[in-house]
Amino acid sequence: MKTLSEKVILVTGASRGIGAAIALRLASEGAKVIVNFAGSQEAADKIVGDILSAGGDAIALQADVSKSEEVKELFDAAISHYGKIDVLVNNAGIMLTKLIKDTTDDDFTRQFDINVRGTFNTLREASTKLAHHGSIINFSSTTTRVMMPTYGTYVASKGAVEQLTRVFAKEIGTRGINVNIVSPGPTNTKLFTDGKPREVIDRLASLSAFNRIGEPDDIAKIVAFLASDEAKWISAQNIGINGGMA
Ligand code: NAP
Repeated sequence: MKTLSEKVILVTGASRGIGAAIALRLASEGAKVIVNFAGSQEAADKIVGDILSAGGDAIALQADVSKSEEVKELFDAAISHYGKIDVLVNNAGIMLTKLIKDTTDDDFTRQFDINVRGTFNTLREASTKLAHHGSIINFSSTTTRVMMPTYGTYVASKGAVEQLTRVFAKEIGTRGINVNIVSPGPTNTKLFTDGKPREVIDRLASLSAFNRIGEPDDIAKIVAFLASDEAKWISAQNIGINGGMA
């Protein structure tokens, strides 16, 4: 039997990048996957199509995680389709990089609405709707450990996700649910590569022990482990997936 057979897993922001790699990997390990997206319907449908053609089971569901009503509907639609949700992967996120002096009110609100309120909205739904003995994996970033200029609001939002996780792990542990954080290092996706010159990417790659940036599947493999029953005794932890960068 595959490791994640019988598990129903909701992955937010799974239309591309790390979320898409997670959806594909979880499905290949037997999970039924809800591929959430905000705007990229075509890309989400393609991920679902790839899973179905490989013999897996998945559906795409639209919801902007920053909107509480949409998140409520996302959970209800997923449960109505599959009967339950066992694992929540809170991957959806954005990264705005600007010096603090140049950051607008709107930049701040958008960064926090998607990364922090988005995570908060899904955790609140999960409180009552995630199955007993399930798992939650939230997304922070290795940038919270390296303090680089221009990452102020981004690392502040991810720091908030880390603290929400630690408290929620204690609150929901009574239902046998473990809650962890993963903190990827620089990873080869649109969020990381967009607008970065080659030399900047190479410099960041040189900060890992292996002189490369991560690939989405490097992250997906660890998320698959954390979603499995083998990882149940790990909770409230922040796991760096960054090739030794920090
Ligand atoms: P990405 O390639 O930009 O993909 C982001 C995904 O999130 C897309 O599927 C997007 O879907 C979705 N999304 C954005 N806003 C959303 C919203 N309001 N509601 C629902 N979905 C939304 O990003 P990524 O690099 O894969 O990043 C995934 C996670 O890893 C993020 O939390 C990021 O902070 C974290 N991370 C990334 C890196 C890195 O180097 N790449 C490093 C550390 C941490 P739509 O297109 O449909 O909007």
